Amino acid sequence: MELWFTEKQTDHVGLTYKTKRILLAKRSQYQEVAIIETEQFDRMLLLDRVVQTTISDEFVYHEMIAHVPLNSHPNPRRVAVIGGGDGGTIREIIKHDCVEKAVLVEIDEQVIRASRQYLPEISSGLDDERVEVLITDGIAHIQESKDTYDVIIIDSTDPVGPAVGLFTEEFYGDVYEALTDEGIMVAQTESPYYEPELVQRTFSRVNANFPITKLYLAFIPTYPSGMWSFTIGSKQHDPLAIDGKKPEPIETRYYTHDVHKAAFCLPRFVQKLVKP
Ligand code: SAM
Repeated sequence: MELWFTEKQTDHVGLTYKTKRILLAKRSQYQEVAIIETEQFDRMLLLDRVVQTTISDEFVYHEMIAHVPLNSHPNPRRVAVIGGGDGGTIREIIKHDCVEKAVLVEIDEQVIRASRQYLPEISSGLDDERVEVLITDGIAHIQESKDTYDVIIIDSTDPVGPAVGLFTEEFYGDVYEALTDEGIMVAQTESPYYEPELVQRTFSRVNANFPITKLYLAFIPTYPSGMWSFTIGSKQHDPLAIDGKKPEPIETRYYTHDVHKAAFCLPRFVQKLVKP
């Protein structure tokens, strides 16, 4: 018998994966956590039936959410990830020798457990001695942290449930306060093709708090439309001024310095979303 899983990406569009087996399906306090093994993308993490990451294409998202802000900062020593319980962003962060401490703030312990058990390729970095894992709400953690982090990475689910508060202007204000003087934040900000208003709104909320705000793109096959946006807010450093500052990070498959710069070249319909 053939088994197919469809992620309903919009009210009218679904992406369907031929599935070998379901490895895990359980309800946590916050969401349904599932791991399935697909033919095309290998194992994938689903939260409430929404694809979060897959063994096959995770490198694009995790490299681009981590290396763009880290290479835009002259010396990131303390880094926080809000969400990101699969561990992929942490795995990329600890490739940077200058990072002394990386704090993962994930609300749902079950996501970390599932990833540790079924996605070791992604979660491996969580055991690094520089990594601290906190099981708590990222909104509260950021409110309590002042002048603490050089880089804050918001690696959240879509803006529903506990992630709604991670897309507000107040939260980005708290992120500003939690950052050190040269601090930089980045957030995953969804698909400009399917969610233009959300991209526009989130950009203006970051921009209300940060003097330098820019949007960049990466191409992720399993995310709705394939075109994914990230919004970066910086106190001092322009993420485009990276020439000659840092060596290329080791062991990447998507990120290079040229890709870093090219990611900020936006198609015209996306440019219009981020015009002041
Ligand atoms: N790469 C993914 C994407 O864009 O679909 C995001 C992956 S990661 C699994 C997202 C995580 O954010 C989830 O594990 C979820 O539990 C966590 N999360 C949602 N709201 C949160 C909050 N307020 N504080 C901390 N973690 C939160």
